[in-house]
Amino acid sequence: MTKIKLYNTLTRKKEVFKPLEKGKVKLYDCGPTVYWYAHIGNMWRYLVSDFLRRILEYNDYQVKQVVNITDVGHLTEDDLLAADTGEDKMVLAAKKEKKTPAQIANFYTRAYFKDRRALNILDPRETPKATDYIKGMIELTRKLEDKGYAYRLADRVCFDVAKFKDYGKLSGKKLDELKIGARLEPVQGKKNPYDFSLWIINDKHLMKWDSPWGAGYPGWHIECSVMSSQLLGDQIDIHTGGEDNIFPHHENEIAQSEAASGKQFVRYWLHVRHNFVNGKKMSKSRGGLYLLKDLTDKGFHPLSYRYLSLSNHYRHNLNFTWESLGAAQKAWQKLQLLVSDWKEVKSEKRDFKKERTYQDDFLKAINNDLGMPQALVVLWRVVKDQQLAEKSKLALVLDFDRVLGLQLGQKKVEIPKKVIALAKKREELRKKNNFKQADEVRKQIERLGFIVKDETGGYKIEPAG
Ligand SMILES: [Zn+2]
Repeated sequence: MTKIKLYNTLTRKKEVFKPLEKGKVKLYDCGPTVYWYAHIGNMWRYLVSDFLRRILEYNDYQVKQVVNITDVGHLTEDDLLAADTGEDKMVLAAKKEKKTPAQIANFYTRAYFKDRRALNILDPRETPKATDYIKGMIELTRKLEDKGYAYRLADRVCFDVAKFKDYGKLSGKKLDELKIGARLEPVQGKKNPYDFSLWIINDKHLMKWDSPWGAGYPGWHIECSVMSSQLLGDQIDIHTGGEDNIFPHHENEIAQSEAASGKQFVRYWLHVRHNFVNGKKMSKSRGGLYLLKDLTDKGFHPLSYRYLSLSNHYRHNLNFTWESLGAAQKAWQKLQLLVSDWKEVKSEKRDFKKERTYQDDFLKAINNDLGMPQALVVLWRVVKDQQLAEKSKLALVLDFDRVLGLQLGQKKVEIPKKVIALAKKREELRKKNNFKQADEVRKQIERLGFIVKDETGGYKIEPAG
């Protein structure tokens, strides 16, 4: 049996995966801050976690997956390296939308799960909300204070990074180098600019809880240490996040958890590279920040985006373009059509020996650090193998789909509303003898992977096969 290999950010090499407990995997994914919609770049990161979970399950592991919901404490200035000033993202959104933070959290949590399910991302075992774990965060802060890893300032309790000798082991950053040239908002009295807040005292804050240090709210990083240890134990197998989580978020999680427990917190750290749009990093200010809804509004099926995500390795930036999404939609639809054709085949002839060879190739691909693009290559080799019995093709493709999650064989090709509307528009243009414009609309439909066939008295829309 091929062993699973994963690239571990902590050791900076590909390692053979060995679980803490035989046959079981404890998996923690840093979840969304629910103050706005998750964009497709966020969803790409959760898709990769879903590939990982499905690979582990395909290899017969029992996976306990936790994805947290951040509904407090995520400050707007987190991107200023380890700075922990700025306003809470939840509070800011609540003020802007004139709602309570809880209303904001509920609304965007629902939107997040709707998008996950549309992308056929499996539901995690647990989805803890940070606000339900405040007591645990206070206890952990006290413990760190008791052990000498934390100190008090007038308005907060800070983690003392210099006390934790392994600080920087994940990101490879060294404390003395960090001090130089740091772009940080100064917090009065901090011993080190990279000391980070565990608890912020502020009794005027919209979201506040009583604590031994005064009413206030937790820092962002502490929630993951607490939810992870309460739901999965002090030591877990795999922790995932986007590459921007490595520092400071995950570095700080390690510091808190290991200082408190004295044990190694996480065995394997997996980080997903960014999703680019037209070769550039997605950002609200530069435009090109798409939600899943923007894709479906244009006539793309959510699973086309899943297919596109499969075609890129998670340690490379996924470059999103409308052309690449169009190609993904066509490929995905073609697979669906083939599967429904193979289902109709009467012969029961199968070639089990060949099936096993293909299965081995598929397993080798996925077990090699989530080699999803290579897995798709194996899938297309199966599809194109003219010697292979169609019932064998069907069995293989459906088996691979347990990992790929493209819902092959479950659904007929759906014609998106947008495509139906475009076809109608084209028909109207043709009736007005505006053939040039009608032809433009036809091309638009084709870019979405469909063709319009004119028939007596009307037209028919079919997926391009
Ligand atoms: Zn986290």
